[in-house]
Amino acid sequence: MSSEGVFLLEDEPQLARVLVLSLEKMNLKAIHASSLQGARELLETRDFSRWPRLFLVDRNLPDGDGLELVDEIRKKGFDGAVLVLSARGSSKDKVVGLDQGADDYLAKPFDFDELAARIRSLSKRITIHENLWFLDDDQRRILGPKGWVVLTPIEFKLCQAVMSQPEKIISRDELLKNVWGYQFLPKTRTVDFFWGRLRKLFELDPENPKHFLTVRGSGYRFVK
Ligand code: CA
Repeated sequence: MSSEGVFLLEDEPQLARVLVLSLEKMNLKAIHASSLQGARELLETRDFSRWPRLFLVDRNLPDGDGLELVDEIRKKGFDGAVLVLSARGSSKDKVVGLDQGADDYLAKPFDFDELAARIRSLSKRITIHENLWFLDDDQRRILGPKGWVVLTPIEFKLCQAVMSQPEKIISRDELLKNVWGYQFLPKTRTVDFFWGRLRKLFELDPENPKHFLTVRGSGYRFVK
């Protein structure tokens, strides 16, 4: 696991402090948020591929249930480990948590040695992150900085065309021929339109794209 090992969502300041210190003793640096909104904001500024691989999530938060975040990150394709720490500790609560995508569920108050043991056990199962910009033909989806994105056939074809030649400037005419199959090249904004769509789908900041670039007068360029 990387040194930036853990994302901690916990609203009780004192418990959060103790948890951060305990994690440090295990050589795990924690990123800490104390609300669902705070967690979302912290995650949105990071490439999906650089999220911590372990999430420790409290449930009773000022703005909702921590399981909402678990659901959101699983939907984005997060396949690391999630451990829920909650005062809601009935069997029913645990079943709901595990069904929602948690790998483990520890009821509060908990013993720190037990927490450490569970983290060690989960860490063994955490695999290296899948490669960013992985193209999954079967499900027509691509793993981008915001997680998995399911595309339409034409969007996927356009991605295939530019991702097979990263860094290279590809002209509008070449794309119209190879992706759209035009024989005669019409005056059209089609490529620009789809390029804008891809930015919205993949870029963390579509106004300042890092991956789907336009080279004025020459064409389009994809950068990993
Ligand atoms: Ca709480």
